[in-house]
Amino acid sequence: MTVRTIRVRKDVMARNDELADRVRRRLRGAGVTAFDLISSPGAGKTTLLERTLEALDAEIPMAVVAGDVRTANDAERIARWTDRLVQAVETDGGCHLDARQVYAAVEALDLSAIRLLFIENVGNLVCPATFDLGEDAKIVLLSVTEGDDKPLKYPTAFRRASYAVLNKIDLLPYVDFDVEKAIGWAKEINPDIEFFLLSAKTGEGMEAWLEFVRSRAARKEAA
Ligand code: MG
Ligand code: ZN
Repeated sequence: MTVRTIRVRKDVMARNDELADRVRRRLRGAGVTAFDLISSPGAGKTTLLERTLEALDAEIPMAVVAGDVRTANDAERIARWTDRLVQAVETDGGCHLDARQVYAAVEALDLSAIRLLFIENVGNLVCPATFDLGEDAKIVLLSVTEGDDKPLKYPTAFRRASYAVLNKIDLLPYVDFDVEKAIGWAKEINPDIEFFLLSAKTGEGMEAWLEFVRSRAARKEAA
């Protein structure tokens, strides 16, 4: 039975990777850069996206695919900041987005009208890390109200992510979060991971993040 279970999982992943490649080809063909945002629940993915759209929506055409187990609440929050495209995916109990759902969401978008796509994954640091969605890069969010040992507990998320956002830094005086340790552990797992330290709520550190987002959109334009 064990062998059979493993086999099923392998088939699921192979099918997912095939669809993820299709998503990636569609996005690349349209010149759209895509990021998959992953984090624990409550780390601030939706707030970061709201502030990003608020700052850049007039400048960079973006779309968002927001996944949640239930409700379209996050998608509705994000939609307040843009007239463009917000696609809600209710996973109906599923604890991650898979490439099939993203493929369907991307098919519903007018890719010629956008340059950047943010995928807000389901709040969970385990399986979202292992599912390729066709993104250019995964971005892992961590907030200082969580443990600074998250990189040790969820190494796959930090290994698969190209970028990490440390959010809620305005709360550092009130919590026992060791920033240097957290970054050090993440870099032991993934030496190339690039960190952004910010507070999406107060705006502290947002400029470097927004500059990064701008640069990724511009890179596609140059290509
Ligand atoms: Mg959210
Ligand atoms: Zn899952």
